[in-house]
Amino acid sequence: MIKHLKKGKQEDEKAIDNQKVKVIVENIISDIETRGDAAVSEYSGQFDKWTPESFRLTKEEIDACYEQLSEQEINDIKWAQKQVRNFATIQRESMKDVEVETLPGVVLGHKNIPVDSVGCYVPGGKYPLVASAHMSIVTAKVAGVKRVVAATPPFQGKPSPAVIVAMDLAGADEIYTFGGVQAIAAMAVGTDTIEPVSMIVGPGNAFVAEAKRQLFGRIGIDLFAGPTETLVIADDSVDGELCAADLLGQAEHGLNSPAVLLTNSEQLGKETMAEVERQLTVLPTADVASVAWRDYGEVIVCDTYDEMLQVANDLAFEHVQIMTKDVPYFQKNMRNFGALFLGPETNVSYGDKCIGTNHTLPTKGAGRYTGGLWVGKFLKTCTYQRVTEEASVMVGEYCSRLCAIEGFAGHKEQADIRLRRYGKK
Ligand code: NAD
Repeated sequence: MIKHLKKGKQEDEKAIDNQKVKVIVENIISDIETRGDAAVSEYSGQFDKWTPESFRLTKEEIDACYEQLSEQEINDIKWAQKQVRNFATIQRESMKDVEVETLPGVVLGHKNIPVDSVGCYVPGGKYPLVASAHMSIVTAKVAGVKRVVAATPPFQGKPSPAVIVAMDLAGADEIYTFGGVQAIAAMAVGTDTIEPVSMIVGPGNAFVAEAKRQLFGRIGIDLFAGPTETLVIADDSVDGELCAADLLGQAEHGLNSPAVLLTNSEQLGKETMAEVERQLTVLPTADVASVAWRDYGEVIVCDTYDEMLQVANDLAFEHVQIMTKDVPYFQKNMRNFGALFLGPETNVSYGDKCIGTNHTLPTKGAGRYTGGLWVGKFLKTCTYQRVTEEASVMVGEYCSRLCAIEGFAGHKEQADIRLRRYGKK
């Protein structure tokens, strides 16, 4: 039996929130399409109180950011990027081009071609999300993307030095300080001062994620990577203190970040709820985390592992932390998720910041149909074919008859002309 010890906002309330965001985003995109740079500047002023002469940073401005960081900070950023680059490189090497003779004289193949230009969004409204620079830019460069444009909102009224340094170290070709829908729309549709890109990647708040969704088709996107979600699956092998820390560590992302405990122990559920309240009294980011927990926090108690698995696969959450006696059971059977964190020894923060797996992950159920950002998302797997004259005749006979079934006269003639030319030899 599935029982809720605590529930968050109901689905209809969430739908109203989504609808409001959709309309706001539609209006901003359409205005930027019409008025270009002037509109970008106005929205940047309205939402971020930021209207510089140019949103693009000069080399001197980028260099000045290095001066504001300690050697330790720069080295830590480099270490995180090394882990991301290393794993992305291994993943890239696993993506082989293919060329194979499938029938005598029929050669089929595919090659992986990097997208020409990409816009990497690095969130920065509440926190300067330095790590998102590693995740998008380093990975795009490993994939071989030639032009990588990076954008981030100002943080506390100016470009965040740590984010800018991370973008530069990661290999960004152009760096802009602007955020939200205006950044996504400017990179996607282009303005007088910004060349449009072919694809936009990276996480962001509900406005950013919705802007990417609305622009998809016109440009490529990586995935729907909106407000962070975390699911902690735990049993009595761990305690409430650890569960609460793992829930609040993600709830602090934003006011609408769901954090859910799924357990087969009612005792652990109650203990975790009490611990959350205690930890909120000392957590410096409690102003955000407490609202997220109040509105989107849940504690769900099941009877069995099988029941927990069912709920977890239905939720298809972005992050899933497994802290049960039988970790391999969940590793083997979890099907819908962004990333798994297996065992109490690891946690979402390692993945978020530095361990090497990508932190840009599917939210709002997108885990049902996609994994997170990775080097393969920047590559187009495009096919080709080649045949001998003999093979053309063999395939052409099938093709001609199949075209006749569909009534495609022009297609049929494409096959027939080859039958006439190569068939008589
Ligand atoms: P952000 O950079 O995503 O958004 C800031 C921008 O939002 C601002 O520049 C502003 O232009 C715009 N904005 C704010 N209020 C607005 C309004 N009322 N109307 C229109 N635009 C508005 O930074 P953030 O807000 O701190 O959010 C970061 C988000 O990224 C969090 O929700 C976090 O959970 C999420 N995240 C997701 C993943 C993932 O992989 N899914 C990873 C990391 C972070």
